[in-house]
Amino acid sequence: MAELDLPTIPHWIDGAPTPSTSGRTAPVFNPATGVVAANVALADQAETDAAIASARRGFEEWSSWSIAKRQGVLFAFRELLNARKPELAAIITAEHGKVLSDAMGEILRGQEVVELATGFPHLIKGAYSENASSGIDVYSLKQPLGVVGVISPFNFPAMVPLWFAPIAIAAGNAVVLKPSEKDPSAALWLAGLWKEAGLPDGAFTVLQGDKLAVDGLLNSPTVESISFVGSTPIAQYIYETAARNGKRVQALGGAKNHMLVLPDADLDLVADQAVNAGYGAAGERCMAISVVLAVEPVADELIAKITDRIARLTVGNGAQTGDAEPDMGPLITDQHRQKVAGYVDIAEADGATIVVDGRSLVVEGHEDGFFFGPTLIDGLPTTSRAYTEEIFGPVLSVVRVGSFEEGVALINSGEFGNGTAIFTNDGGAARRFQNEVQVGMIGINVPIPVPVAYHSFGGWKKSLFGDAKAYGVHGFDFFTREKAVTARWLDPATHGGINLGFPQN
Ligand code: NAD
Repeated sequence: MAELDLPTIPHWIDGAPTPSTSGRTAPVFNPATGVVAANVALADQAETDAAIASARRGFEEWSSWSIAKRQGVLFAFRELLNARKPELAAIITAEHGKVLSDAMGEILRGQEVVELATGFPHLIKGAYSENASSGIDVYSLKQPLGVVGVISPFNFPAMVPLWFAPIAIAAGNAVVLKPSEKDPSAALWLAGLWKEAGLPDGAFTVLQGDKLAVDGLLNSPTVESISFVGSTPIAQYIYETAARNGKRVQALGGAKNHMLVLPDADLDLVADQAVNAGYGAAGERCMAISVVLAVEPVADELIAKITDRIARLTVGNGAQTGDAEPDMGPLITDQHRQKVAGYVDIAEADGATIVVDGRSLVVEGHEDGFFFGPTLIDGLPTTSRAYTEEIFGPVLSVVRVGSFEEGVALINSGEFGNGTAIFTNDGGAARRFQNEVQVGMIGINVPIPVPVAYHSFGGWKKSLFGDAKAYGVHGFDFFTREKAVTARWLDPATHGGINLGFPQN
């Protein structure tokens, strides 16, 4: 229900903020205070159709621009983003809750993709084979798809749109972005920046909304592809629906990332990295580590070291700056906080020991904020739902295993395959790990192995539906369609007269 007297966050259609006419809204909270800061528009079918139609016009214009002119826009966008990123970080923190330095981190990882996209002419070049047959040349062209849909999750309101939009736009497409309704303002800020960089109206559209807007994109014959990032059940729905409607689709889902610690590892380094990767962004990262697999006899010592570090972590309002900046901000909503607490309850009921319990944390001066303290669990049975399901909060579980093999088998038995890491000084074990583990992104003594922009991001199994990962070469392949041309310039000497046989060399 709409809160009265609050601003309503609009769409961005035809190159301008566009107020909604649907009469549907959702509240947007400041998670650090628990206060509703604004309402966001939720599109109806008519608004969705208008956004897609505008994007189609934007595509007609933008795709007609020369490569040189398009590249100018990409460079301008990169310069503006680089100069103005503190503004965007403040917007992310206000609606998501993550601390400012972490918001800046996600922008920098998104900016990497913008920088890759500035070099797009090289990546959308076709290939040319001269004289493939006598007097015949064969060449391939890479053309844009048209209007492409991007549907993003709450946890990276800037980075995830930037995984896709710069590459899609560079390749000549028009993007309709449907951001998460929980933190919708970063998308609008990016839309303003594209406009300032010189992108024609309609080539970047923001459609605010929920399932109705998503279904409008999935069912529109004008939308050529869908790039989705979010939870696994929705990713599967997106994949199946978009594919049924004949669209190209990449749908990235949830995760449950394990860190395998071998007995030879430096346990101080491991404890630091487990804390960073488990509790950073309050665990609301698809590449967060949620399970530490400790190959015995290291578990007790490692738990002591992690416990020691947790005691020094600060939790508070992520908007505080300088020395006052806490290590961790709140969770996204009260509902999500209750869900995370519910998983800790389940772990306890299933016989685990809650070594550090964040369930009852209250932050002074922010009593209504959605805070949840860093939580450490020992002895979690691998049959517990707290082990098998994604928690998406600051909850780290240590599971004791007897060997490397047992650890790898546990990782491979899960339904997700997003990221994983091994900590060891044994190169042979690390090499075996990268070969045997059924996961898309692997860290060797690196806990959150998010690939750089010129490689591609994506998991295996229920962490990615479809065969195209995000950004890198996969990104350019996904957002272009190839044509192969076979050409001959006829002259009397070579044209060969009438011949009904199948063309041969
Ligand atoms: P979510 O699935 O709830 O929402 C993602 C998007 O889908 C949002 O834009 C939302 O409005 C839309 N949506 C929600 N319900 C829908 C429905 N029934 N029909 C159609 N659309 C719907 O995910 P979230 O809570 O915003 O994000 C957290 C999840 O995203 C976690 O599971 C996390 O692991 C995952 N994630 C994965 C990656 C990755 O790269 N694999 C990256 C970031 C986040």
